[in-house]
Amino acid sequence: LEDIRADFAANVSHELRTPLTAIRGFAETLLDGAYCQPESALRFAQIIHNEAERLSELIEDVLKLSKIESGRVAIAKESVDVLELVHEVMGRLHERMKKHQIKIDIPDDLPPIQGDKGLLAQALHNLLDNAVKYTQLQGLIAVSAKQQDGEILLSVRDNGIGIPEEAKERIFERFYRVDRARTRRFGGTGLGLAIVKHIVETHKGGLQLNSVEGKGTEVIISLPIMERVEKE
Ligand code: ADP
Repeated sequence: LEDIRADFAANVSHELRTPLTAIRGFAETLLDGAYCQPESALRFAQIIHNEAERLSELIEDVLKLSKIESGRVAIAKESVDVLELVHEVMGRLHERMKKHQIKIDIPDDLPPIQGDKGLLAQALHNLLDNAVKYTQLQGLIAVSAKQQDGEILLSVRDNGIGIPEEAKERIFERFYRVDRARTRRFGGTGLGLAIVKHIVETHKGGLQLNSVEGKGTEVIISLPIMERVEKE
């Protein structure tokens, strides 16, 4: 555990250093005189702003992850209606999903999940955020849910760029990103799926990834049904 902690600290420092170096570099260039040339000044200020945004996104994600991992926060055992959850999270992403084709397939009589609504919303948010990020405009994003073997299976599927075979095993690791070019193009902290994994694990649920490069990706999470856990 100590090794994992040390590794994590090293990774976090490294990830924080990248935007920080850019911020310092461009601020110095501005101070050295670039502020006198309005066009460059504007461009550099924009870069500083973007990198600062990235920095706060990273810090937010690191905090979320360590909060869930610490086990110090109580995980609520609420009754969570899947359709409501999906509508709530999609509402938040509405602006970014406007141009995508959205399909929702959730039966009216689906039993509720037993879990922590806030955390489940976070997990679904991260999956949908990826579906949006890695799928072209007009692409398809489908969310479906069903009951199977005493569990709820919640699936988020897209027809985006997909994940290469060799990356699939590592995709849920912290800070793992398929390649640097993708990250430059799409942004992201590399922590989104690690957070999903932790949330699913705290719910004693399961995760499944189906993806074909160039065709699309589906992530299925299985979660306990309300009644089942109540009986235990
Ligand atoms: P990030 O913040 O970089 O998106 P994640 O942990 O959410 O980090 O995802 C890890 C990597 O998995 C991403 O960098 C991306 O390359 C790949 N990935 C995740 N979801 C998808 C998806 N729906 N389609 C294609 N690639 C994906």
